Amino acid sequence: MKKVLITGAAGFLGSHLSDRFLAEGFHVIGMDNLITGDKKNIEHLFPSEHFEFYYHDVSKFVHVPGDLDYILHFASPASPIDYLKMPIQTMKVGSLGTHNLLGLAKEKKARMIIASTSEVYGDPLVHPQTESYWGNVNPIGPRGVYDEAKRFQEALTMAYNTYHGVETRIVRIFNTYGPRMRVNDGRVLPAFFSQAIRGEGLTVFGDGSQTRSFCYVDDLVEGIYRLLMSDYDQPVNIGNPDEITIMEFAKEVLAMVGNPKAHIIHKDLPKDDPKIRRPDISLAKKVLGWTPKYNRHEGMLKTYDYFKKVVEVPANA
Ligand code: UDP
Repeated sequence: MKKVLITGAAGFLGSHLSDRFLAEGFHVIGMDNLITGDKKNIEHLFPSEHFEFYYHDVSKFVHVPGDLDYILHFASPASPIDYLKMPIQTMKVGSLGTHNLLGLAKEKKARMIIASTSEVYGDPLVHPQTESYWGNVNPIGPRGVYDEAKRFQEALTMAYNTYHGVETRIVRIFNTYGPRMRVNDGRVLPAFFSQAIRGEGLTVFGDGSQTRSFCYVDDLVEGIYRLLMSDYDQPVNIGNPDEITIMEFAKEVLAMVGNPKAHIIHKDLPKDDPKIRRPDISLAKKVLGWTPKYNRHEGMLKTYDYFKKVVEVPANA
């Protein structure tokens, strides 16, 4: 039985990846320090004899006994308000954490995939974003702690690949959504769904003309699985190119939830908020034969089902 270590296993993506690898017949070691992850996301896995949970901060030395075949490094605060609150931890998990795990991969002769991000392209001057674009990142801006940690993570990963011969994979993840996103993580989809369900104002930042392209989590997991199992060691974008303005997105959520009290309000646009974002997925199509299967409406309905269950509505709402 192949053994896989998944860091950030109690988080949104890590928990879905844990489900997938268990379903594929792997023994899964989930690791998390629970600063943004939630044990509720993985408690359904605890009865499995092939799932183990290690409570650990990967920016400290990582030890796993026995053999290890694969490492998926998915630990990190990932929403802008989280990494603003935890800038040092964000930098440490992307840099020191990645270093520890690459060292572990070298020691165990394991193949390792790192969760990189569309944020390496910053506020992009090329649209859509291809893997060959080097990006436009403000290193000292509020998002720099995340963006630069991820850029450093990519550089270190390629160095271990070329210098130590570690088998590495790099996935650049674009905006992804689905069940188990944290209600209060500040990202646009949990924010809009919870506000609409509670009958509050949907907080559109700026005039809402900025764009994002949203990928349903099952599609992302499929892309990551294929990339890890492939021979391709250069960065690959995984995301859904279906681009939409944030204002249009707010209107879609309002229409789906249909709460007459919900409405749109505006708040200031955060500093360095990327104005446009859409993945060019030609490379993923070519080397992985991957394309997203869920359209936004299907994915949002599944996600709405989840938020209906977890969003608490005050009695007087
Ligand atoms: N956004 C918004 N209202 C919110 C949260 C986010 O208008 O309550 C906007 C944000 O300014 C950005 C987009 O939605 O342009 C996506 O933000 P998110 O934090 O989800 O992810 P990002 O892609 O910026 O990392």
